[in-house]
Amino acid sequence: MAKNKSKIKNQKLKILITAGPTREFIDPVRFISNPSSGKMGITVAEAALRKGHEVTLVSGPVSLPLPGSARNINVVSGLEMKEAVVSNFPECDVLIMTAAVGDYRPVKKHSDKIHKTSDKITIELIRNPDILKKIKEIKTKQKIVGFAAETEDLIQSGIRKLKEKGLDLIIANKVGTKKSGFGSDKLEAVAIFKNGNKEDLGYCEKKEVAEFIIEKVERLKDWK
Ligand code: C5P
Repeated sequence: MAKNKSKIKNQKLKILITAGPTREFIDPVRFISNPSSGKMGITVAEAALRKGHEVTLVSGPVSLPLPGSARNINVVSGLEMKEAVVSNFPECDVLIMTAAVGDYRPVKKHSDKIHKTSDKITIELIRNPDILKKIKEIKTKQKIVGFAAETEDLIQSGIRKLKEKGLDLIIANKVGTKKSGFGSDKLEAVAIFKNGNKEDLGYCEKKEVAEFIIEKVERLKDWK
């Protein structure tokens, strides 16, 4: 048994990771986005690469350097991110969705710049597809890790999203404070597993969270 476990631990995994925000363009010069820096996803990719895993990193527009030894795919919008994830998913063992995908996009992208002729304009938005919910429909043996950025009720929201999105593990983390979340090196987080187990990661470095996730996915055969 122990021998089998160590064999699993040393296995080289194909890990698909998403990072950063998406941009939902209104016209050629304006977009709707969010403050995600991509730091969490890039840090997860670096932790996986250090352990010898094969990484495909799908990044939205980020200014941080991307790890050179990953297979990097750059996308802009939520729809592009969905296409990249869905087409690379069948080959992977694990999907780790850290990206802050835009929930809505403009119904219409104007082909020319909108001129400020009116005092008030209305932009109609439509829901972007939830990538993890799409993956839930097509997944076979892959393990899926998601994130939930919350301002309150970390655990309750985490459990709900874990179930709704068919995840094996969710990292529920606090946003909306200066010391945790978007752009920061640290975050306050709780890990919630599909079997109901929880691990409070406390207030820790994104690097520690990344290493925690990779350690867990390396034991993925033990996940129930
Ligand atoms: O529902 P919420 O956006 O809080 O869920 C966060 C999780 O879902 C993250 O893992 C994120 O990458 C993923 N997500 C997604 N598709 C979306 C929005 C979020 O896969 N359209």
